[in-house]
Amino acid sequence: MTGYWLSRGFYYYDKMRTRFLFFNRIRQYNKNRSNRRVEFEKLRLPFLRVRYQPKYRYCNYSCSYCIAGHNNKGILKREWNPDRYDAIIQGIYQLPYKIDLRLGLGGEIFTSEHIMRSVISMTEKEKTHCVNLISNLSLRKDRLTEFLERCDCSKLAMVTSYHPEQVERLEDYLENVRLLKNYDVPVTVVMVALPSAFKEIERMSEVCKGEAIHFFLQPMIGKYNKKRYPKAYTGEERKFLERYFYSEHDYEYMVEMKKPGLCFAGVDFIHIDNIGRCFQCCVSSKYIGNILRGKIRLDEFPAFCPLRRCQCDTQNINLVDFRLKYEHFTLNQHIYIARDRTGDVVKQ
Ligand code: SF4
Ligand code: SF4
Repeated sequence: MTGYWLSRGFYYYDKMRTRFLFFNRIRQYNKNRSNRRVEFEKLRLPFLRVRYQPKYRYCNYSCSYCIAGHNNKGILKREWNPDRYDAIIQGIYQLPYKIDLRLGLGGEIFTSEHIMRSVISMTEKEKTHCVNLISNLSLRKDRLTEFLERCDCSKLAMVTSYHPEQVERLEDYLENVRLLKNYDVPVTVVMVALPSAFKEIERMSEVCKGEAIHFFLQPMIGKYNKKRYPKAYTGEERKFLERYFYSEHDYEYMVEMKKPGLCFAGVDFIHIDNIGRCFQCCVSSKYIGNILRGKIRLDEFPAFCPLRRCQCDTQNINLVDFRLKYEHFTLNQHIYIARDRTGDVVKQ
């Protein structure tokens, strides 16, 4: 009889213990979840970052390494549809958020009066947090001045790409960069890190340092001179790149192809293609709606990146890893400092 009660006692003890452990795990899980929620809330942007690629594929340059296809000048121009461009911009401004728009045209913005006019009007909108542009800055100084005069420059940021094989007079290019600075537009100079351009990179980096202009590198991505980059960079070349890259983050993700982790793409960042389809980002196939139909579905929390690498500098700033370590201090998406330092420009 005693044995019977003992075994019943153990039975109930074990049952209670299992139940206790089970609920304890749920409590712990909820606690971690709410801690994470608080962490993520702190890192979340107070605006929606939109990357819109309207496929305006026309450029006045024809760089040999162009990944937008302009080494065969102009052939892709037919994809451009100004009416659809306007409708998509209108759709973006109907979303219930402040907007940080990055126009990634796949061509040169200052060859299109239509896009220039739309940028001017976007900078005047209350809902605009910022318009981030990229240009080869080849337009005449008087035309750039006219454009800047018509913009609200406090909502404009610009990445200017320097292409030594196309630029006739470096001084003209630099004059335009200085002009942007004079209008208080946060500006960065970018170069493609071709091994044959390393001397030019050193020179431009020095010039930028002397004039307090932010300078960063884009690795060559794709096939060039029968080699596939960035894998084809040699050990020596990688050492050079490490020295000149803007940050450890850029170098790790863009050259060493570090595997991405948790990412805010689809939470406070979306990518819109030329026909209005919205995705988590330009490489993810996660569809989140169509801007021309008015509805998009954003996630509440960052999720693990479904891809093996993220080599796009306008997108990998959405990684939790980036936001934990760095902080933007201007409207330019490529100007930031490490969180543990203040005031100084990042150079690790
Ligand atoms: S300026 Fe840019 S878009 Fe134009 S050809 Fe050169 S790399 Fe391509
Ligand atoms: S890490 Fe890059 S590729 Fe991955 S989801 Fe984020 S933006 Fe997209």
